[in-house]
Amino acid sequence: MRWQGRRGSGNIEDRRGMRIGLPLGGGIGGIVLLLVMSALTGTNPLDLIGTAPESLDQTIGTTGAREDDPQEQFVSVVLADTEETWREIFRERGDAYAPPILVLFTDATESACGMGSAAMGPFYCPADRKVYLDLSFFRELAERFGAPGDFAQAYVIAHEVGHHVQTVTGISEELARMRARASDAESNALSVRQELQADCYAGVWGHYAARRNLLEPGDDEEGLRAAAAIGDDRLQRQTRGRIVPESFTHGTSAQRVEWLRRGLETGSLDSCDTFAGETW
Ligand SMILES: [Zn+2]
Repeated sequence: MRWQGRRGSGNIEDRRGMRIGLPLGGGIGGIVLLLVMSALTGTNPLDLIGTAPESLDQTIGTTGAREDDPQEQFVSVVLADTEETWREIFRERGDAYAPPILVLFTDATESACGMGSAAMGPFYCPADRKVYLDLSFFRELAERFGAPGDFAQAYVIAHEVGHHVQTVTGISEELARMRARASDAESNALSVRQELQADCYAGVWGHYAARRNLLEPGDDEEGLRAAAAIGDDRLQRQTRGRIVPESFTHGTSAQRVEWLRRGLETGSLDSCDTFAGETW
């Protein structure tokens, strides 16, 4: 990607290097977490109790990227480009786009959806409308999942931003209501459709990014390789040695590749209706 020298987003909240300030009344869960954290980090649990974030400003304010940190700059530029894309698409539809905040963290952090940890991978929390990202995931994506490259990383960010778009358009809320009434298998199937739509939205962003001359030859392939690498079937084969389709929540490698490709090729939201008919 040609991202150097481009404008970054002001919607980055940098919590890296912060210790977790446990909420008051953390209860049993908080204590268990404390002990786990303590075991993991080799620190005295008492050190962690009530530790406030190092700087209050860091928790409250959002900042642009630090100039001496290329990885943060990259994330910031990609986020800014998603903002530009979605602002344009929303405007065409007579709507205003309110972008998400992207929280950078290390190891673990609090979100309105509960404690987020690096082990969960990047995630979006609809309750606080923030994307949570531990940059170590990009190393994992390259080394463990075999999907290196900056566009692979950008796809991950754009997928989470896709969930934000689903939230501000009301799709996520409607799905949550449907899933609450559904059986486990039906609920998983709805989750797959939601995830595939986020992949398609990531592709729509890629389409606009290409128009702005942000992409280089080979970038699409990097993204598609990443989408294939994190398909449920491939992940389950790797971790369990067998696949259980009813338990899929994100879609197969083939489905994820297909929907990302659709978004990339068409650049159209209408091509991302993963809820009509089959998932291809
Ligand atoms: Zn997702």
